[in-house]
Amino acid sequence: MARHHMSLQQPDPPRIDADAWFDGVDLRELAARYPTPFYAYSANAIRTRIRGLQQALAGLNYAICYAVKANSNLAVLQLMAAEGVGADIVSSGELWRSLHAGIPAQRIVFSGVGKTEQEMAEALAAGIQRFNVESADELEALERLASSLHVTAHAAVRINPDVDALTHAKISTGKAENKFGVSIAEARRWFARAGSMHHVKLDGLHVHIGSQMLSVAPIREALARVAAFWRELEAAGHALNSIDVGGGLGVRYRYGHDEPVTPEAYASAIRDHLGAFKGRILLEPGRYLVGEAGVLLTRVVRIKQGDTHRFVVLDAAMNDLLRPSLYDAWHDIVPLVPRPGPSQACDIVGPVCETGDTFARGRMLPPLEAGDLVMIRTSGAYGSSMSSTYNSRPLVAELLLDEGRHAIVRRRQTFEDMIAGEQPARWETV
Ligand SMILES: *Cc1c(COP(=O)(O)O)cnc(C)c1O
Repeated sequence: MARHHMSLQQPDPPRIDADAWFDGVDLRELAARYPTPFYAYSANAIRTRIRGLQQALAGLNYAICYAVKANSNLAVLQLMAAEGVGADIVSSGELWRSLHAGIPAQRIVFSGVGKTEQEMAEALAAGIQRFNVESADELEALERLASSLHVTAHAAVRINPDVDALTHAKISTGKAENKFGVSIAEARRWFARAGSMHHVKLDGLHVHIGSQMLSVAPIREALARVAAFWRELEAAGHALNSIDVGGGLGVRYRYGHDEPVTPEAYASAIRDHLGAFKGRILLEPGRYLVGEAGVLLTRVVRIKQGDTHRFVVLDAAMNDLLRPSLYDAWHDIVPLVPRPGPSQACDIVGPVCETGDTFARGRMLPPLEAGDLVMIRTSGAYGSSMSSTYNSRPLVAELLLDEGRHAIVRRRQTFEDMIAGEQPARWETV
């Protein structure tokens, strides 16, 4: 099954060939062996992305903390750990997964507006590297908890730089009206009274303005604001240990159309604005590392010719890949064995009982018939990690591919798995 004709060019992950080989594995053979739908991830595509970023950043004092929420599969996290990559987490569950996968606590940073005290205490007990703090209330809670646990917490203030990431509104996080971070004016007040906290070392800045950014301009704008603030703090005698530049690098959802920021352009923006910073630069890429490294393999259940629309009904649905329903996101949809004949406009839908269960509208596709294999590309990020069992559809399998080999890294849920934890009502009173 192995074939080694892929070149590992930088910064592109291995391309999926016209004849459907991915990381040395024939996707058609894979689909003959495992029931669709399932996700397939290329380990080499992920490694290539990590190494491309590392090369571009060479010479800087930096650390990459992978945003676990993009794809939290244990095997993916283990791959990150093996490459020396840390984790950016947003919940206790992600902390648990990351530690379980072998990512050292000292390489873990904790982001999010709604960390509960329980979650903060668990992260403190685990000894994570730092907290990206998003509100005054959270900062006070951190001081209180660290004091009661007799530990010192390192904290960065998440700056909301009021910069438009020029991306979809639902994945834009750096405008003043978004729930994330605090203004520079508020951060200034935090540093002014940082000396009164005895268990929190406020020694970092953090910024993350949004996701799927395809232009370096908003990144530069945010970095410029953070850099100006760092210099101001330094002049006022506040020593900073780290500046976390967040994630947000975009990927190609539409090949031949989307032109992502290259790691070189990204690194040069970081160098230009933060090159003189003496502390460590943290990066939190999620989508960029895993997005293009994954495909969702699915089959056509049937073609339904409506009065006005031609529907291609797939065996995958919005519960497996939510992005098109949630964000109207484009994903390239490619038949694995294209049939000859003229392309036709189709609505590509899933079987779930929702009009929103639509992967694409009016998409031009070659002729398709029931049983045909189709791949939904760039599904490695925010695919399986956002999936659910809506309509009682068990979570699908995930496979990792690595130079001609494949491994099941999550088996398809059984019905028993799906109802695990549910039970008949046994009434009690409080
Ligand atoms: C989601 C998130 C990321 C990762 O975003 P990507 O667009 O996947 O790179 C990084 N940092 C924070 C704080 C996030 O919430």
